[in-house]
Amino acid sequence: MKNIILVAPPVAGKGTLSKILEEKQNYIVISIGDILRAKAKEDKEFATLMKSCKLIDDEIIFQVLEEKLKNLGDKKYILDGFPRTVEQAKMYNNLLKGLNKELGVVIYLDIEYEKLLQRVLARRICPNCKQVYSTREKSLMPKETNKCDKCNSILYQREDDTEEKFNIRYNEYINKTEPLINYYKNLNLLKVIKANDPYKTYEEVLNIIN
Ligand code: AMP
Repeated sequence: MKNIILVAPPVAGKGTLSKILEEKQNYIVISIGDILRAKAKEDKEFATLMKSCKLIDDEIIFQVLEEKLKNLGDKKYILDGFPRTVEQAKMYNNLLKGLNKELGVVIYLDIEYEKLLQRVLARRICPNCKQVYSTREKSLMPKETNKCDKCNSILYQREDDTEEKFNIRYNEYINKTEPLINYYKNLNLLKVIKANDPYKTYEEVLNIIN
């Protein structure tokens, strides 16, 4: 099995796919967004910065990431939401060399804007175990309305899951993250999957990593 970098627009299903790989294949999920949201709860100034929905400084991102990777040992991991720029990808290559780790495979989840917008408004998340649900996609609906199937916590909607904030995040993605697709394609590391049903996507990922 290989380490995985997931590249995709916001709400394409990176979090859901990561959760499935964590449960079924014992991957460690590193979601920089989750780590930053936890930091924002304790630091008001940082919380204001996060509310802008713009990318956070590389210095902070790499501090967080390096600490995580150093504590992983040989465990296989998924990067959900990192790298977000070609610059970060290049810096990550150097970090990997220093830590003697392999990059693995880059999976691009391909999905169109209209589907993303529908998804973002329906997305609900468990604050405790981070399981992702949807109020409209059948395979992702909770058994009991608004409650996590796994730990019974009341689900919440992310503050940035509104149409206005989604559009800012999507534009950030188009301007800064989409160039990563060509970057990794040219390095022959990119695998493209159509992001439809998360369980079908998972099956396709399995074929790639095994
Ligand atoms: P996500 O949960 O991946 O959608 O990330 C939520 C927010 O965290 C983003 O809108 C950014 O502000 C920030 N963020 C997450 N990952 C990164 C990254 N690799 N580089 C810069 N900012 C990030």
